[in-house]
Amino acid sequence: MQATPGQRVRTRFAPSPTGHLHVGGLRTALYNYLYAKNMNGDFIVRIEDTDQARRVEGADKSLLKTLEMTGIVPDESFMHGGNFGPYVQSERLEIYRKYCLQLLERKNAYYCFSTAEELEKNRKLQMKQGMQPKYNRKWLPEDMGGSMPEGEIGKKLEEGVPYVIRMRVPDYISIMFEDMVRGPVEFDSATVDDQVLMKSDGFPTYHFASVVDDHLMEISHVIRGEEWLSSMPKHLLLYEFFGWEPPKVAHLPLLLNPDRSKLSKRQGDVAAEDFINKGYSPEAIVNFVALLGWNEGEGCEREVYSLDELKEKFSLERVGKAGSVFNVEKLGWLEKQYIKGRSREAIISVIKPLLYEELEKKNTDMDVDRIAGDEYLGQVIELMRERVSFEHEFITFSNYFFFDPEKYEEKAVKKRWVADTNEVVGEFITVLEETGDFSADSLEATLKDFVAPRGKKPAFLIHPVRILVSGVGFGPSLYHMLEVLGKETVLRRLRKGIERVSPFSS
Ligand code: GLU
Repeated sequence: MQATPGQRVRTRFAPSPTGHLHVGGLRTALYNYLYAKNMNGDFIVRIEDTDQARRVEGADKSLLKTLEMTGIVPDESFMHGGNFGPYVQSERLEIYRKYCLQLLERKNAYYCFSTAEELEKNRKLQMKQGMQPKYNRKWLPEDMGGSMPEGEIGKKLEEGVPYVIRMRVPDYISIMFEDMVRGPVEFDSATVDDQVLMKSDGFPTYHFASVVDDHLMEISHVIRGEEWLSSMPKHLLLYEFFGWEPPKVAHLPLLLNPDRSKLSKRQGDVAAEDFINKGYSPEAIVNFVALLGWNEGEGCEREVYSLDELKEKFSLERVGKAGSVFNVEKLGWLEKQYIKGRSREAIISVIKPLLYEELEKKNTDMDVDRIAGDEYLGQVIELMRERVSFEHEFITFSNYFFFDPEKYEEKAVKKRWVADTNEVVGEFITVLEETGDFSADSLEATLKDFVAPRGKKPAFLIHPVRILVSGVGFGPSLYHMLEVLGKETVLRRLRKGIERVSPFSS
């Protein structure tokens, strides 16, 4: 769907700084970003902090940091600047006051002095009568279709009684609009409450502030979660009161658990930072989140996309209405695809600092210049690419490429040792000492030639050698592993190992 000709596409992500960036929020941000970039437009981040009680110090900066870590960089925000600022709603209070006054003057809004107790009593009464709770319009002035005399209102204002300002929702009209995801939507104004626009603390409500800002910031498309769909009639009425052209809107499907229940923020794992901290790469996270509601085309099997490819292919027409299941296994699968496809250099740039961190914590018997060099790390990467689930595992999961084993997997030792194992390994060590060619092929031939005359199978030696050299009973091809580790390390570990692993001595 094209934007109105001549209108620049401008989208916004408008988080409330109440905590971490939820995966749902990341998806909203990503879709806004992708849509804007696909249309050569601007992506704006606006901080909606009008609910001061829920505001969390520092959450605004951390939201932006998480976005940037995943490659979603705003064109305008309180950190990036721009011509439509300030980009934080608490810094725009004068603007909202000015526009609210206009609505009061035009008789689209009115003062309301009802107390919290009164409102609560009214709400309970309506619920008891099976009605949808709504403000009872006690303070709607006579000249706006209500019963409150103008004088009463003036008196309260003079006395300085706290008040809120409410919008006057017209009676019995139908509010229709076209949602870019959901198609035509219709609301009856009878179901719409006289929404508070300005609170007694002088702050606007979300509804009022976001409409004013979307207009002033020239937002062309509002893309947000489905939970905001029911706010549309209020927002559209405000646009009409002001005589402003409303932006186009798209409401994104809910995120669901695999059992199709609504994904809850409380379910732990759904803060975007958690995924980053667990070691998922920004590319996999973005790819995963992009697929939570969007696909390239009917029957298209493709699932791996870079951010640039997503920018090129994304469209709101391909966002589905049905809820999208949030399946973490898919993220794990995508991460593996990324690791398989990533260049050695890119992986080295991530894992080298991790290796240095480990080297600071403990000493190694190996040559540090060699094991931290690109050639050695490149060999480790090629051996382990298919076996790791996260990039950090090149170091943590395969730490035997960098450190001599401190202990040996007990279960594996029990399974693989027989009475003469250490003796045979000892003889094999002397053969290896004489071996000039430490390539995988030559090591394979040497080992096979060694076991055959002794009436043993290669496995008799392969498993114990692996355990003594790496400490564990699983890993990549043994011969390749030995080649990468090198003769000196292998011999040192075998000699040390047979002294320490003697399951039959006790
Ligand atoms: N501040 C709202 C939120 O926290 C923004 C909703 C919207 O995009 O209009 O999600």
